[in-house]
Amino acid sequence: MLTIKRRLLLSHLAVILLGAGALGAYMYWSVSDQMLAAVAQRLIDNVRLLQSTLDADDVRAFGDRADSAAGQRIVARLRAATELNHDLASAYVVEPRGESLRVLATSVGDGRPDTDFLSSEEISLLRRGIDGATVSDIRIAASERAELSALSPVGAATPVPYVVGVRLDAGSLQRSLRLLRLSTLGAILFGVLLALVLSRLLAERLLRRIRTLGERCRVLASGEPLPTNQLPIGDEFDRVIADFDATAQRLREASAEREAALAALTEANAQLEHRVQERTRAIEDATHQLKGEIENRLQVEALLAEAALTDGLTGLLNRRAMLEMLVQAVLASRGQGGFSVILADVDHFKRINDQYGHGVGDQVLSAVARELEQLQGDNRHAARWGGEEFFLLLPGTPLMEACRRAEELRQRIERLPTPMRGLRVTVSLGVAEIQAGEVLEDCLKRCDQALYRAKDAGRNAVVAARGNAFATMS
Ligand code: GH3
Ligand code: MG
Ligand code: MG
Repeated sequence: MLTIKRRLLLSHLAVILLGAGALGAYMYWSVSDQMLAAVAQRLIDNVRLLQSTLDADDVRAFGDRADSAAGQRIVARLRAATELNHDLASAYVVEPRGESLRVLATSVGDGRPDTDFLSSEEISLLRRGIDGATVSDIRIAASERAELSALSPVGAATPVPYVVGVRLDAGSLQRSLRLLRLSTLGAILFGVLLALVLSRLLAERLLRRIRTLGERCRVLASGEPLPTNQLPIGDEFDRVIADFDATAQRLREASAEREAALAALTEANAQLEHRVQERTRAIEDATHQLKGEIENRLQVEALLAEAALTDGLTGLLNRRAMLEMLVQAVLASRGQGGFSVILADVDHFKRINDQYGHGVGDQVLSAVARELEQLQGDNRHAARWGGEEFFLLLPGTPLMEACRRAEELRQRIERLPTPMRGLRVTVSLGVAEIQAGEVLEDCLKRCDQALYRAKDAGRNAVVAARGNAFATMS
């Protein structure tokens, strides 16, 4: 994988190579062009100068008539030109005659070479025709290591009868071009090296910031304290690091605040929970207590209610409760069958109290009450009417049946075993049946009267009230 450093180096290098290569190539072509153009111009100047020094008449005399003296002068001029200018390799005079070319004189050898002396480039130029100073293709000369030639017509006649030519030593041109190439290459290499060093420095500088940022990220992630050293704000990277530090610091502070708030919340929550538990416990205790109190109260109320309706000594209904039942019985009797009542009074009870004590009297009252219950089969229709008087309600029972029951009761009590020797308990009973349309009070009155009749009849007796008449039943 390419590291950032390598990428930076490679990208810089690519840019620099492209830039330096393009710039070097441009410089090379531009400078070499200028140099070749200057060389070509100098060669043209040289051929013009040589042409101006040649005597046109000598050339004509030598060309037309082979005048040797003229020929010698021409060769001397040609040699003088090459000797004075070391850049010139050779000089010559040629006579172009259409397709055929005749070299008249040269600066080399014996001065009269043949047509092979000419290069193909020179032949081609001469055959095309020369109308002024001209130079062969300098690029071909530079690249093919051929000699560079410049030609100029001698005289102003048309077509041109004679042409003077000079050749430049291509070696020096090649050397100049090689030097130029080498210096250009050197400049490019130097530029690349410099760019490499600079890009390395730049990459190192960037990497140092990236490493610093990475280190800060690691520190932030691990929870260690952030470095406090202040970095100089130099470029965008330094600004990013400074912003990162500020953000990290804010994050840390926010995190600390959040943790503190969380701790406070947890503490408050624990306290609240504790208080809720305490309150719940208190409420549970209070509820339990209240429940107990309610139960107690209900019990007490039930006892009170029971006590309000029952007689404490015998456990039978009291007079009030019986009266309520009687009212209900009266109401019920209007729809269906009636009821009978029995009033029982212990005979000479005062004497029992007097003779055996009040406690025995109470025992007797309780024993009589039990007999009433057994006779009735329940305690809902038997009541202590007051003192030693008892009351029985017989719903749906006609008078005669009631009298039979009263008689049974009388006999039971008569046979009652007593706690004391010589103690005999008897009761007198009055029986009445409610008459159609009769008010309760009248019925009770008739029953009471029947009881008195039983007392009057000698006690231990049952008397029935038949309407307003009374009949002793036992
Ligand atoms: P009689 O045969 O005419 O009914 O005579 P008696 O003595 O039974 O009637 P009296 O009305 O003269 O006496 C009733 C007595 O009953 C008077 C009273 O002291 C007594 N007595 C009333 N209530 C109680 C009680 O709850 N316990 C006891 N031991 N005696 C009571
Ligand atoms: Mg009485
Ligand atoms: Mg009595």
